[in-house]
Amino acid sequence: MKITVTGGKGGTGKSTIATNLAVLLSAKYRTVLVDADVECPNDYILLSTKLENEENVYLFKPKFDYEKCTRCGLCVENCGENALVMFKNGYPFLMPTLCSGCRTCQLVCPEEDAILDDRRLVGKTYHTRISDNLHLVTGMLREGEERSYPTVLAARRRAMSIDADLHLFDTMPGTGNHVAAAIEDSKVVIAVTEPTRLGVHDLEMILKLLKKLKLHAWVIVNRYDMGSADYREIVKKYSAEIIAEIPMSEDVMKSYVSGVPVVKYNPNGEVASILKDIASRIEEVL
Ligand code: SF4
Ligand code: SF4
Repeated sequence: MKITVTGGKGGTGKSTIATNLAVLLSAKYRTVLVDADVECPNDYILLSTKLENEENVYLFKPKFDYEKCTRCGLCVENCGENALVMFKNGYPFLMPTLCSGCRTCQLVCPEEDAILDDRRLVGKTYHTRISDNLHLVTGMLREGEERSYPTVLAARRRAMSIDADLHLFDTMPGTGNHVAAAIEDSKVVIAVTEPTRLGVHDLEMILKLLKKLKLHAWVIVNRYDMGSADYREIVKKYSAEIIAEIPMSEDVMKSYVSGVPVVKYNPNGEVASILKDIASRIEEVL
């Protein structure tokens, strides 16, 4: 069973909600929390744990054998990412950070072995065993790297290879293919938002994507007493369902500072109770 916590906008408290749900659900179910927010993974910080069992994520990049290249220019013409430019002498030259690793250049090259396989490091994945019932898989993009998709895919692959009752994904903000890759096959997607104009705008983007992917959407409005933007109309428009409205809370701030998830910091507090209700909703579909 796969459940995803996402949000069009960053900073809505998505990771706080994902980590707390993982802690609650792992009391009963073998849970893998997948931090697919590869540009800024912070679930391990919120859980006060370490990144362990590092694995590299590589992406194909072409390596030119200029002895075999006939300077036909087909690779440059067909590179959809404009990652290849032609030198004055007619030989192709790669700008690695633009390369998506699609191999089109290799496919269109008429000369055997003029384009060989090479690879570049784009990110890392980690596997931390927090307890018998709670594992954390983290994807982390290499500094300066722009292509997050391969690292998200690698984290997903690594997480799904772990036998569990529940895989709980925490995605990047936004609605790009890096988010779609994490969301795919989810039984339920939880979109976390806040009642600001930007929050509601980005909520609409993510609900649009979920509709396109034919995925059922639950909405959590975090810090619902912080702003006055109307989120209900948008939720209604996309036939989504508001499952919780979480107030601003000192408990959450204090739990950050102490490095303890709020459901453990103050298990009987208002926010912990709401999170427990959300976990129970998830249990109903497990
Ligand atoms: S692998 Fe794809 S993106 Fe990279 S240089 Fe070749 S055609 Fe361009
Ligand atoms: S397609 Fe092959 S032969 Fe043509 S320029 Fe590119 S590497 Fe050289």
